[in-house]
Amino acid sequence: MALIVQKYGGTSVGSVDRIQNVAKKVIASRAKGHDVVVVVSAMSGETNRLIGLARSIIDPPNARELDTIMSTGEQVTIGLLAIALEAQGCPARSYTGAQVRILTDSAFGKARILEIDDKAMRADLAQGRVVVVAGFQGVDENGNITTLGRGGSDTTGVALAAALKADECQIYTDVDGVYTTDPRIEPRARRLDRISYEEMLEMASLGSKVLQIRSVEFASKYNVPLRVLSSFEDGEGTLIAPEDETMEQALISGIAFNRDEAKLTVLGVPDKPGIAYKILGAISEANIEVDMIIQNVGADGSTDFTFTVHRNDYKKALEILQSTATAMGARQVLGDNHIAKLSLVGVGMRSHAGIASKMFGALAAESINIQMISTSEIKISVVIDEKYLELGVRVLHAAFGLEEAA
Ligand code: ADP
Ligand code: ASP
Ligand code: MG
Repeated sequence: MALIVQKYGGTSVGSVDRIQNVAKKVIASRAKGHDVVVVVSAMSGETNRLIGLARSIIDPPNARELDTIMSTGEQVTIGLLAIALEAQGCPARSYTGAQVRILTDSAFGKARILEIDDKAMRADLAQGRVVVVAGFQGVDENGNITTLGRGGSDTTGVALAAALKADECQIYTDVDGVYTTDPRIEPRARRLDRISYEEMLEMASLGSKVLQIRSVEFASKYNVPLRVLSSFEDGEGTLIAPEDETMEQALISGIAFNRDEAKLTVLGVPDKPGIAYKILGAISEANIEVDMIIQNVGADGSTDFTFTVHRNDYKKALEILQSTATAMGARQVLGDNHIAKLSLVGVGMRSHAGIASKMFGALAAESINIQMISTSEIKISVVIDEKYLELGVRVLHAAFGLEEAA
């Protein structure tokens, strides 16, 4: 007998019929002799609807109140699933994050889990009940409701699995596993049987929203075997686990992309010590996070400086630069919020040269211009015009032979 944590995403609980289907799947797992803790998201579209209500009053809304509002989406689905289970003859009990006591810090909208009390869940399991827990939410030490960031139910699932020392955490969603790239963009994408924590972490942080980044961090830190599966069809899905030394390494595991960034350039800044600090100091004081950074080699005593930020911070960052540029002695400030980041990920890159040049060659053959490049041990990212993103994904997918065998 195993203890399994199952997480069902928004589409999987998107209607009462689908919630009944989830109840059936949970009951089928129990029939195999497993104890089951279920984590559910809000019904699809609900979190956006709730945010919209708040924003229709004031934008941005107060962060504490927004968490109170957003957390209700998951509260509805836990209740519905618990009564669906009971109606199908399976004892069940629902818990909000606060009722479990998923203790978090007080960073509303992006809270981190500090501690999970497993007593109530263990007592229910011992009495033969299915435990149904609201994803995406917790409570801080002052009793305020918090949320864990968009996609945060994944993290609730993995954190509960770690706290309960579960045998596996299963993430049920609307695709049947992790693919070489988002199958909505490249229909020839191939499902991976297995991917390492490290690669999944890169894929998630470079834009593959199939799993929230923090859920993968948690799984890797606590060694929780994590599996992504379909809610709608049977199959083995994708196992996310430590790197397997015995398996032959694929060169490239996948392609990630991200449209959430914007690019800013300061032209003709004096090429002298402290200039990067001056530019980025003002940006970080405004609490804006910077992703990629490029500074050109200086010529004639001046240089150009380019960096990317989240698209939501673009306007603010541009304003800051425009107001500080003259004082810095810069010639001009440019901005572009129609860029996209395209990344190749694979642990096989560690031991193979020539991947970057193959990537650049494939993009050049389609006349896709590369605006910025950054690399790490297991990834290469380029910034391109957003217009060419889908083409770029498909071109690289073919160039690296990632498609489904015919
Ligand atoms: P849920 O509501 O179940 O949490 P999400 O929408 O958060 O589901 O995540 C599933 C979606 O992730 C898929 O529908 C797919 O479009 C997208 N996705 C992006 N990259 C990948 C990838 N590499 N493999 C599989 N799905 C991906
Ligand atoms: N409902 C939340 C969201 O849409 C959390 C989740 O679904 O994982 O972001
Ligand atoms: Mg999700």
